Amino acid sequence: MKKFLSIALLVCMCLGLLAGCGSDAATETTAAAAGSGETAAAAPAEGYAEDVQAIIDRGVLRVGVKNAVEGFGFQDTLTGEYSGMEIDLANMIAEHLGVDVEFTTVTAATRSELLDSGDIDCVLATFTITEERKQSWDFTTPYYTDHVTVLVEKDSGITSLADLEGAVIGVSSGSTSAKSVVQALIDNGIIDGEGFDPDTFDPATWTEFVSFRQYEDYPAISTALSANEVQAFSVDKSILAIYNTDSRTYIEEEFAPQEYGIATTKGSGFSAVCEELVTGWLEDGTINGLIETYGLG
Ligand code: GLU
Repeated sequence: MKKFLSIALLVCMCLGLLAGCGSDAATETTAAAAGSGETAAAAPAEGYAEDVQAIIDRGVLRVGVKNAVEGFGFQDTLTGEYSGMEIDLANMIAEHLGVDVEFTTVTAATRSELLDSGDIDCVLATFTITEERKQSWDFTTPYYTDHVTVLVEKDSGITSLADLEGAVIGVSSGSTSAKSVVQALIDNGIIDGEGFDPDTFDPATWTEFVSFRQYEDYPAISTALSANEVQAFSVDKSILAIYNTDSRTYIEEEFAPQEYGIATTKGSGFSAVCEELVTGWLEDGTINGLIETYGLG
């Protein structure tokens, strides 16, 4: 009888152990599921980094987004509601942390200042990953790749890069666009590129074949194009889409792949959280699903 009892006890202990293992496994699964934005956040075993904990304690994730890029960050002027894949990604990160989300509209010229000042926790705003920018901010693995092109008035007769000779091109300050145009002119053999140094390039002083005029936002460039203050408008195709009215057209060429990443403060714990989430969503098809949903494929 005694022997039976001790065997029974042993069996119970083993079952108990197994159950214990089982619940550990369940915790891991919960954490993985949280990565897909379906469940509340499970804190990692070692706890969240201080900066991530501060977001959780605040109860709000503050995200810089665009307000006029359809499919990415677009704000309905009547309801104030934002929509697009970058909005969904921001909501999913907030959901993962178990906090609310607060959107701030940013431009190419303001997004990095707002991140540096601590007004926002991250930028999800068609922000192209470049080597230069990586010196100042952390970027996740890209969640989307776009290309730069040029929008012109149809009656200008401009149809290709080569037709841009003498044109003033409107670009946004703080964007990659002007440098991308000059690089494309060189790559297509239209100019020889003497005098072009990508590290010191300044759109304000470039005068070979084309010149640039910089604006604070895109609506201003669109107005300038209508007024013939500039003869071309260059930026990523996703951003140009909304300004491509009946009287306008893109030139033939698309160039300079623009890989969009989530930007966060360099070396922050939140950078690691965003990277883990984005890589998870790339792997499990969530990001491809968003690209399809918004017709960005
Ligand atoms: N994506 C480009 C950049 O990061 C264009 C500017 C913009 O995003 O508004 O420079």
